[in-house]
Amino acid sequence: MATHVLIIGGGIAGLNAAKSLGDAAGITVTIVDRQNHHLFQPLLYQVAMAGLSPADIAAPIRSILSGFSNIHVLQGEARSIKLDCACVEFDFGVLHYDYLVIACGATHSYFGHAEWEEFAPGLKTVAQATEIRRRVLAAFEQAERIEEPDEQKKYLTFVIVGGGPTGVELAGAIGEMSRYTLARDFRRINPRLTRVILVEAGPRILPMFSEEQAGRAARDLEKLGVQIWTSSIVTNVDANGVEMGDERIQTATALWAAGTEASEIGRSNGMPVDGRGRVIVEPDLSIADHSNVFVAGDQACFTHQTDRPLQGTAPVALQQGRFIGKTIVQELSGKPRTQFQFFDKGQMATIGRSRAIVEIGRFKFAGWFAWVTWLIVHIYYLTGFKNRFFVVLQWAWSYMTFRRGARLIVEKEWRMNQLESEEMLVDTTDDMPR
Ligand SMILES: Cc1cc2nc3c(=O)[nH]c(=O)nc-3n(C[C@H](O)[C@H](O)[C@H](O)COP(=O)(O)OP(=O)(O)OC[C@H]3O[C@@H](n4cnc5c(N)ncnc54)[C@H](O)[C@@H]3O)c2cc1C
Repeated sequence: MATHVLIIGGGIAGLNAAKSLGDAAGITVTIVDRQNHHLFQPLLYQVAMAGLSPADIAAPIRSILSGFSNIHVLQGEARSIKLDCACVEFDFGVLHYDYLVIACGATHSYFGHAEWEEFAPGLKTVAQATEIRRRVLAAFEQAERIEEPDEQKKYLTFVIVGGGPTGVELAGAIGEMSRYTLARDFRRINPRLTRVILVEAGPRILPMFSEEQAGRAARDLEKLGVQIWTSSIVTNVDANGVEMGDERIQTATALWAAGTEASEIGRSNGMPVDGRGRVIVEPDLSIADHSNVFVAGDQACFTHQTDRPLQGTAPVALQQGRFIGKTIVQELSGKPRTQFQFFDKGQMATIGRSRAIVEIGRFKFAGWFAWVTWLIVHIYYLTGFKNRFFVVLQWAWSYMTFRRGARLIVEKEWRMNQLESEEMLVDTTDDMPR
């Protein structure tokens, strides 16, 4: 009988584990994700900022893996992992495994204030990106309608919490969009007067970069009109503003790019986890006492290479996914296991339409050339030829025209007459026999 490998999560780690097992003799793979699509998160901020459409950076997992006859793709949500009986409970039923790969990624952490999420959405999924796009574009529309100056100012103020790469990318994109793309489209308001405030709890933005590069990014952001508030700890977020102790910024649009924590599924199943909910893994990415269970990507806490856990980045997830796939194939052919070794190719962040910072070991550069490097790397890692082709076209068009192609406000409510429908529902329910 074939060995069954069950993979939970079709993100970067899960997908690469599956590909490494594709067409392997004597192995069947089931990959289950709660979404039907694989999402390339590093370009998600471009969807949130109306530069790209969701389909440009996502693709159905089923079609990505359709070339491998031994891989089954299912849409569903893992509810609990039962290590003792080697099975996982999903919302559609139970699946047994010989090997299990857990790659459910991470989610946002509101540091014990889950109620802030409603007022300051984070950016992890297509749904969140389109919601952020809706809020940002709707804020400009609201401001155009309003005459009262303070209210107008509130709608033209955007607060981004978290000075990591995502916060920097969002702040830079709003700054650029308001100054270049929207400036000529409005008559009553002047989008150039938009306030974009990037709030960071630490002493500087981009702590994972060198001080010199982070300083360069800060200056580039300031050129786009972004104000950077460092050493500012958010103490409250509501529908009309963000508070940092006694300081309050009135805003209709707050965005959350601060903390992350690993997906719930590892934490809730009695596996050893670190303070951020990441499952602590052995040098071969398996978990203690269960050598047939692996954890990869943002959900894994790997401390065997440097004194700190590896960061939650796309290259870590990709290399870990591939490593696990190869480990299983090699083990089944009788070879001993090896240790996972991360090959660090460097890091980069982009600021607005033509600036970026890049660090590859001791080699650091910034500006336009860094931005072109950023473009090439992101296109290279984007899944699917069609996506790569259309993203290059979109970027070329936006670069030349300063326009953004996906400036649609899509409401969440799809019914034409929501109120009427709700009333009808109430009436019908009342008439029903109990
Ligand atoms: C906005 C943003 C920008 C980023 N930018 C960069 C960047 O520029 N460079 C970089 O290197 N990294 C970047 N990252 C980080 C990088 O995207 C992640 O490190 C990487 O995606 C992690 O891969 P993963 O496979 O562990 O998790 P994910 O890619 O998050 O995949 C997890 C998958 O698991 C699924 N899932 C979760 N829970 C369940 C469940 N219970 N049942 C079934 N399925 C489940 C999810 O639907 C998802 O498809 C960025 C992340 C974000 C959010």
